[in-house]
Amino acid sequence: MESALTARDRVGVQDFVLLENYNSEVAFIDNLRRRFRENLIYTYIGSVLVSVNPYKDLEIYSKAQMERYRGVSFYEISPHIYALSDNTYRAMRTERKDQCILISGESGAGKTEASKKILLYYTVTCPTGDHMAALGERLLQSNPVLEAFGNAKTLRNDNSSRFGKYMDVQFDFKGVPVGGHILNYLLEKSRVVHQNHGERNFHIFYQLLEGGDDDLLKSLELERNPQNYNYLVKGNCPRISSINDKNSWKTVMNALLVIGFVEEENLMNIIGGILHLGNTQFGEGEEGETYVTNEDQILTLEKLFGVNSSALTEAVTHKKLTAKGEEMISPLNFEQTLSARDALAKSVYRRTFNWLVEKINQSLAQKDEIHHSRKDFSVIGVLDIYGFEVLQHNSFEQFCINYCNEKLQQLFIELTLQYEQEEYETEGIAWETVQYFDNKIICELIEEKHKGIISIMNEECLRPGETCDASFLEKMEDSIGGHPHFVTHKLANGKTRRVMSREEFRLLHYAGEVSYNVNGETILKQNEGLWHKFAGASKSHCFRRKEVNDQKRSETASTQFKNSLMKLMEILMSKEPSYVRCIKPNDSKQPGKFDEVLVRHQVKYLGLMENLRVRRAGFAYRRRFEAFLQRYKPLCPETWPNWNGCLSDGVSTLVEHLGYTPEEYKLGRSKIFIRFPKTLFTTEDALEA
Ligand code: ATP
Ligand code: MG
Repeated sequence: MESALTARDRVGVQDFVLLENYNSEVAFIDNLRRRFRENLIYTYIGSVLVSVNPYKDLEIYSKAQMERYRGVSFYEISPHIYALSDNTYRAMRTERKDQCILISGESGAGKTEASKKILLYYTVTCPTGDHMAALGERLLQSNPVLEAFGNAKTLRNDNSSRFGKYMDVQFDFKGVPVGGHILNYLLEKSRVVHQNHGERNFHIFYQLLEGGDDDLLKSLELERNPQNYNYLVKGNCPRISSINDKNSWKTVMNALLVIGFVEEENLMNIIGGILHLGNTQFGEGEEGETYVTNEDQILTLEKLFGVNSSALTEAVTHKKLTAKGEEMISPLNFEQTLSARDALAKSVYRRTFNWLVEKINQSLAQKDEIHHSRKDFSVIGVLDIYGFEVLQHNSFEQFCINYCNEKLQQLFIELTLQYEQEEYETEGIAWETVQYFDNKIICELIEEKHKGIISIMNEECLRPGETCDASFLEKMEDSIGGHPHFVTHKLANGKTRRVMSREEFRLLHYAGEVSYNVNGETILKQNEGLWHKFAGASKSHCFRRKEVNDQKRSETASTQFKNSLMKLMEILMSKEPSYVRCIKPNDSKQPGKFDEVLVRHQVKYLGLMENLRVRRAGFAYRRRFEAFLQRYKPLCPETWPNWNGCLSDGVSTLVEHLGYTPEEYKLGRSKIFIRFPKTLFTTEDALEA
């Protein structure tokens, strides 16, 4: 039989806190690699679950596997996303405290897959109420719908989420899932009109063209070939082997049915309408004014969007100006018309997506709310939000995404450190502080009132008249030029930095440097005015409903995003957090390939080494008295088969018998803290002998 030591050599340790050399990044990565080779993709850092994307189907997600993890304590069984799901569920039930699971990692690291496994675990293993049996199905079916409309193929991930998602699952006092609610964040709407080479638009466009039946396509006046549509050709990548659009279409249609959608047709009118909008052609008149050259197209749009054709034409070829209190309509030139058309397509898509989320929320809402007072249910929230992003060209969207990641990192720092400290305090154990980089300074740089980047951007956006990107940059230089995390082409000594363009600024994020292009950033405010004109003329109720934000039209996109993030932080802060840290093993989506440089970078910016150090500060391992006694009592004649005295004395008797020295451990009020992993290894080995 293989000895325990060689098994550990082969598969590494299942909890990083057991690493001998916990300060060594090399040892950390080596442990990840060993486990990855053995298809052991999960490893803990205490209660944090680290997951490495296997890029292949592992047979570890079956119903039988779910049963293995039910009600079993974290440390007694190999690490798994189900173990984390189960622990979270039990913590919610026993401590009656709302929970949240925060999933982070870069694009393609496996966040969405993890969130789906969590949801699946709850819908399969939790008890079901008689009348709520269908809720589980609706919860699960919300995924294919949101993915069809919110995910797309990118260079990094064939099914990349292009929006952030926070989903609450509500449980009644018996632990039965009784409802759900989704909050969505910043859909990457620029994708609707433009895709980088090798990328696609949102899946739904291709699904409709591939899977929609002939009658539907005919009524939408669409042809099957995606290459016929301007909004689908930019990436030059209509089909990909890993995606079957035809099958997905069926799945999505079925999911819409389960959710209780009755307006699919209306929905497809909009999707088809956007494709037609992209194909609308314009000509330039003698005075520089623009007009639509393919009039048929406008009639099709009138039919699909339910908008009067002249209102639609005017919306994209003219703009409204307010000068000295008077409204004036002035024509747009050719270039401006094209941007207005694209802005409209993006607005329409974003609104449609929000409307879909609203519909799903109605379907997931608790039906018998009269019987549920607010306090009657507990919640587990799951956050699957876009990871830190650095592209060739980074714009407003990347800025928001990366700002969001700064906020989450800040939360992670606050909550993990706070929690560790609290635990040592409640257990009455002295502890030493650990050095770590606190990214609060970057969050403030972005969001501080009056002089943060968002504030300055707002000033520019809300200033009447033409907006100017150059003055936006200048203002930033004036007020935050000296900030250690902010860089522009201007050097402190008045000279210029050659390698940087005059149109960009660079932020030194906690996860790396990113240069943002300001070109067009402040133009953002134009879009919404156009939208209101369009929506006002539309008969489609998807467009006519009011969004919460409509009341605050003066708010800029960045303020809205900032506020929604603040709200999210509040939601998360009020809950007990668990973390899943996802790692992408290689850039080529290949199974079995472990790219060390890539992994090291992620380990670094996810702050895993710091996380481990904090966890190890003082004590590598901790376990509740009862769990410790239960596991090791066979090793001591006085505790075997049962210890009848108080738990603390039992643990004391047991470890003294095992020869633990006083510096090796400490007894808290309810837990034993063990300083060195070796101590626990020896004890584990004794158990196996
Ligand atoms: P993005 O930020 O782009 O949305 P993500 O972190 O959500 O990325 P996923 O879409 O979850 O990444 O994963 C990308 C792909 O990796 C999946 O489509 C799947 O092929 C594979 N994958 C991820 N996790 C697993 C897993 N546990 N088992 C098998 N394959 C996986
Ligand atoms: Mg995703």
